[in-house]
Amino acid sequence: MSEFFSPYDADRPLMLKCSCGRDHSAADHQAELSAEAAAATLRQRSLTSEFEAYSNEFIEATLVKALFPQDALRRRFLRAVGKDTAMAAISSVLPVASLQAMAQEAGKGGGNLEKKDLKIGFIPITCATPLIMAHPLGFYKQQGLNVEVTKTAGWALIRDKMINKEYDATHFLSPMPLAISMGLGANATPMNVATIQNVNGQAITLSLKHKDNRDPKNWKGFKFAVPFEYSMHNFLLRYYLAEAGLNPDTDVQIRVVPPAEMVANLRAGNLDGFLGPDPFNQRAVFEEVGFIHLLTKDLWNGHPCCAFGTSTEFIQKNPNTFAALYRAVLTSAAMARDPKNRELIAKVIAPQAYLNQPEVVLQQVLTGKFADGLGNIRTVPDRADFDPMPWQSMAVWMLTQMQRWGYIKGEVDYKQIAEKVFLLTEAKKQMKALDQKVPDGAYPKFTIMGKEFDAAKASAYAKSFAISKAA
Ligand SMILES: [Zn+2]
Ligand SMILES: [Zn+2]
Repeated sequence: MSEFFSPYDADRPLMLKCSCGRDHSAADHQAELSAEAAAATLRQRSLTSEFEAYSNEFIEATLVKALFPQDALRRRFLRAVGKDTAMAAISSVLPVASLQAMAQEAGKGGGNLEKKDLKIGFIPITCATPLIMAHPLGFYKQQGLNVEVTKTAGWALIRDKMINKEYDATHFLSPMPLAISMGLGANATPMNVATIQNVNGQAITLSLKHKDNRDPKNWKGFKFAVPFEYSMHNFLLRYYLAEAGLNPDTDVQIRVVPPAEMVANLRAGNLDGFLGPDPFNQRAVFEEVGFIHLLTKDLWNGHPCCAFGTSTEFIQKNPNTFAALYRAVLTSAAMARDPKNRELIAKVIAPQAYLNQPEVVLQQVLTGKFADGLGNIRTVPDRADFDPMPWQSMAVWMLTQMQRWGYIKGEVDYKQIAEKVFLLTEAKKQMKALDQKVPDGAYPKFTIMGKEFDAAKASAYAKSFAISKAA
């Protein structure tokens, strides 16, 4: 028998290429088909919203409608000759392609894009949903951009590739542009937050062996993981532990572990828990190695997590391209916010090129109906959300926590840094251009674990904590 095929061996899979000619499993093939179908439905939904004038499909639909003012007639014609023949016949008499091209050029600023071929980095986590889905849904293309979204192994690599200009723009943890701009952990390079990608959507996941040890006061000696030092994960975990009376620097260990390695480390017993991004909290439940102790929305409902951003230099050199990118990502965010789209979005981002996760795990994260690993099914629709507003008071809060834990020493000009790095005015301008609702203000107050944060009193706030490294 050949060494390549063992059709009569019950213990080995029959290694034949998929009927589509590619080398992948039937399950992967199915996942891709269902992702394509979901993307098509979402694209259609996007046509009903404000940016439809810039959509190719919309132009075509308009032309077809002009030819067949009565929809019954259109459908009769399509049924009689078939879709392909109809499309060929229509484009032979109407300049469909050139009209589509014109519409694209006319897309605000689309005619003078400084750079059209772009490389954007992302970490394969649900935080990056708007940035990722813009690719299969065609939102970048709609803005005249040819974007390659590139999966990246960890946050230090994202930082380095942004500093080296290998990426044009990226998925960031929202404190990263602050840290890089200030030269913390890297040479100071001005970076910007264009939009927040996601709010909420993180959790503290513990090893199953701790299911009867839910009081953080008893967690002395625990080993935790967070994805990066300059992350909301690190700041929220530290905040939570300190509220329980534990010093996060001396009573526990907090290690930096790439999100994709968190579950394996939990299983191996190298970690007691992590405050990590999804889908890895849900993945730990799926793999039956951990349970969801709490959702970060229970610490700060509406807290920012990841961001979409780029370097100040890129923006200065490519203002029209940057504006086009902005519109693509904001369009995506508007779709991702709507709960009715979440099930389809889970299908779109599940395949290997994006998150490479079982669809059932992503469904639980994005719909908020999930198993918590303790035998309960919970329903928390805003477990993850995609509010893009880069509020400058969010940046100020991050700066107070960097002071609190000694990442920044001494006094900080909060407003100056927040306003330089978080591009709130620009975000509002681009949202207006898309006819989206634009909220007022720049420094809304927040409540974190029951305590109000007011950016106007940031300095006193930074010094107000019993457990702290701040003077
Ligand atoms: Zn296939
Ligand atoms: Zn995130």
